[in-house]
Amino acid sequence: MKLYNLKDNSEEVNFLNAIKKGLGKKQGLFFPKYLPKFSARALDDLIKMDFINRSTHILSHFISDEIPLKDLKKKVKKAFSFTKPKLVSIKKNISCLELFHGPTLAFKDFGARFMAQMLSHWKEKNSIMTILTATSGDTGAAVAHAFYRMDNIRVVILYPKGRISSLQEKLFCTLGKNIHTIAINGSFDDCQYLVKQSFNDVQLKKKIGLNSANSINISRLLAQICYYFEAFALIPLKHHNDIVISIPCGNFGNLTAGLIAKSLGLPIKSFIAATNANDTIPRFLESGIWKPNYTISTLSNAMDISQPNNWPRVEEIFKRKKWNLNTLKSESVSDEKTIKSMRELYKQGYTSEPHAAIAYRILKKNMHKTDFGLFLGTAHPSKFQDTVEKILNTHIDLPESLQSRIHLKNLSHQMKPDFLKLKNFLLTKI
Ligand SMILES: *Cc1c(COP(=O)(O)O)cnc(C)c1O
Repeated sequence: MKLYNLKDNSEEVNFLNAIKKGLGKKQGLFFPKYLPKFSARALDDLIKMDFINRSTHILSHFISDEIPLKDLKKKVKKAFSFTKPKLVSIKKNISCLELFHGPTLAFKDFGARFMAQMLSHWKEKNSIMTILTATSGDTGAAVAHAFYRMDNIRVVILYPKGRISSLQEKLFCTLGKNIHTIAINGSFDDCQYLVKQSFNDVQLKKKIGLNSANSINISRLLAQICYYFEAFALIPLKHHNDIVISIPCGNFGNLTAGLIAKSLGLPIKSFIAATNANDTIPRFLESGIWKPNYTISTLSNAMDISQPNNWPRVEEIFKRKKWNLNTLKSESVSDEKTIKSMRELYKQGYTSEPHAAIAYRILKKNMHKTDFGLFLGTAHPSKFQDTVEKILNTHIDLPESLQSRIHLKNLSHQMKPDFLKLKNFLLTKI
């Protein structure tokens, strides 16, 4: 698969290089040059397959020139080796697509695990690779679990000490083996700056085979296309032309994957991009003016992003497919209304968390009677246990994957935000 850089179209790379580099020149995002399309008949055949075979088939249309089908299938099987997405009916014509049954209880498991499989496939034998990443929560956990116990790949995750929930810490700071976690005495920005300094150190980068496993990595988006097809396969046939999907958006990766799924021929009627108070996109679509505000902290903190870094990909796909950007609905939801929607869902017998509740609210507001509405459940409610328990005045049970880690020791190192200290760590802890 050839991909081009959205900031400098003359830079073209294959899939392998796109996933190794993450970003191109001028920090540009990579985008597929050729967008395949399935015929109606091919789509019918796809729907009959199981999740692993179907996902392999879809991905092969992008990357079979670089990875043989047999190997790809093995990798997909390993990446998606957890409970597949579930379609849960909330009320007549509204369902939640639950994407949080993976090891870290968020949809990010799909992308992170597939990316890990792809990077390990192309790692040169006996070479060492170091994945260095800064996290404010979700991404670090997904990346840690995705690379856990992989040979010759070591993961170093930096996070701001005391700024992520202890539950979240338990999820990825208790793994050990090839997963090293460091609590930095500083902010998330300090962590990000340390990562940046490490990548700027060319010698260090080479010596330890530094890779960022960045959230804008194209392999993540490809993996996420697969669950839109799964949703389609789960939805009764009679609704197949009425599907409206509402997505809780932060960096807009999930929406990008959905749009690619549509470009492949999945007949999604429309997408709705739901945001929290960080409403750069709804304002942009309304006014045509790009004016990010300061990022605001909200209940749906995985969406506290005011400069969504996948947005250029969203625009590109609309341009390439000659779709009208005005057909994309986008609205923001306040914390107050998020709480209202969580309570409304709870009354209907469904326990949700802030991110899904936002998508539900905007879906309900914008769908027609004859539509089949789907909102994405991006995280398990227990990931936001305190918030959810307080708002719904109930007790949330932890799923087994979290329960089993609660009593494990936190293995994190502590460090000042000091690059030389980090460098020393990176050079010695191999
Ligand atoms: C990351 C995340 C989002 C936002 O997804 P994007 O692809 O960045 O738009 C939404 N909900 C949860 C729970 C997340 O972890």
